[in-house]
Amino acid sequence: MRSRFFRPNNLSQQLLRVIFSIYLAVTLLITGIQFLTEYVKTKESILQELEQLAQTVSAPLSTSLWQYNEKQVESLASGLLDMPIVEGIEIIDQRADVIVSKKTYTMASAPLSIFSIDSSLMWSSNNKRTYLGSLKIHSSSKVVFDRILFNFFLIFIGTVINISILFFSFIWAFDRFLAVPLSELISQIDDLRLNRKTGRRISLSVVENNELRQLQDHMNVMLSDIETHQERLLEDEKAKRIWLEDAVAKRTEELLVANEKLKDLAAKDSLTGILNRGSFYDHADPLLALSLRRNMPSSFILMDLDHFKSVNDTHGHFVGDKVLVHFTHVTRDLLRKPDLFGRIGGEEFAIFLPDTDLDEASRLAEEIRKAVGTSVLDVDGKTVTCTISLGVASSEPRDISVDALLKRADLKLYEAKNKGRDRVQI
Ligand code: GH3
Ligand code: MG
Ligand code: MG
Repeated sequence: MRSRFFRPNNLSQQLLRVIFSIYLAVTLLITGIQFLTEYVKTKESILQELEQLAQTVSAPLSTSLWQYNEKQVESLASGLLDMPIVEGIEIIDQRADVIVSKKTYTMASAPLSIFSIDSSLMWSSNNKRTYLGSLKIHSSSKVVFDRILFNFFLIFIGTVINISILFFSFIWAFDRFLAVPLSELISQIDDLRLNRKTGRRISLSVVENNELRQLQDHMNVMLSDIETHQERLLEDEKAKRIWLEDAVAKRTEELLVANEKLKDLAAKDSLTGILNRGSFYDHADPLLALSLRRNMPSSFILMDLDHFKSVNDTHGHFVGDKVLVHFTHVTRDLLRKPDLFGRIGGEEFAIFLPDTDLDEASRLAEEIRKAVGTSVLDVDGKTVTCTISLGVASSEPRDISVDALLKRADLKLYEAKNKGRDRVQI
């Protein structure tokens, strides 16, 4: 119970502190004004009562004074002082001398304010009125307070009860309609933040249609907007990722193709399309090593076009190029799949024949020589023929690279040239 009603950070209590401070200040102000009004009214009524008292007592007092009956005067004065509203009494004779002066208080305990009425004491005989003196009756703020304080005590008690009941019922109402739904809202927001599931909404137990209900509805609209936005972002991101993956895949493929083209360009001779010198040796060396490991011979045919310079000189460089291409086509048609064919110089070509002995290689060389020698090339109406010289060599177990084979084949080619060209030298 205590914890429910004394929570310093509770919205209801913060609101109520402000409301009740204002309420208390206003109540105090109104009560203060009421108190002053009541004081003035009560003082006036006491003055009236004092007036009536003076009227009542003035006749016997005048008689006693006329008869010089001091004892009677004294007893009348004492009687008056016993009255609860009387705080003091003074009787003054016609020479302005004070005959009687009585007070219920001392100078030390004098009340806040003292007020009095004055009444003349007269003696009438034979239609003649004689002034005997005057009677002053005092009363004070103490009497007024005594009268009104009880009423104000009742008002105070009533106010305390009133405020207490209001305070606790206000706290209950504020808690019920404001603080509890707000706490619920906060805990549901926390819950949503911690468990990020889509489609979740705030659902307060508030049944009344008020600002809280509207806040809940607005937050739910906001939540669904956020979800839609998030979904759109995710879709955008997914589309972008797919596009990027596609672009990367396409680019990779393009690069692979370009790479292959580059490799091809680097490996092949641009004029004839067969292996160039570098890649011919790159391919031939491992094939030679493989054949040797299996104790198989490999062979090498080196070829050079005869008097090719005169072909160029007679027909032109362009026709010379056509002859070179024509020669590669004729030769390639006679080769097997594993045979390597490369252009290793201007008009110098080589064939590497794996797992092939010298006889087989010589037969092939002869075939090539015949095929080239008998083939005819027509370019722009001109008929061009050419012959070739060939040097053939076979591998030996001590050969560690194709270079050794080339050297031996080159010697044979040189011999073929010297012996008159258009021949195979073994
Ligand atoms: P040999 O029978 O002694 O080999 O005589 P040859 O004229 O063939 O030899 P030489 O080495 O004197 O001449 C080779 C010629 O080949 C010289 C050069 O102009 C020509 N040649 C080299 N490469 C190419 C080429 O790519 N295209 C053309 N059209 N000619 C080339
Ligand atoms: Mg040459
Ligand atoms: Mg030549």
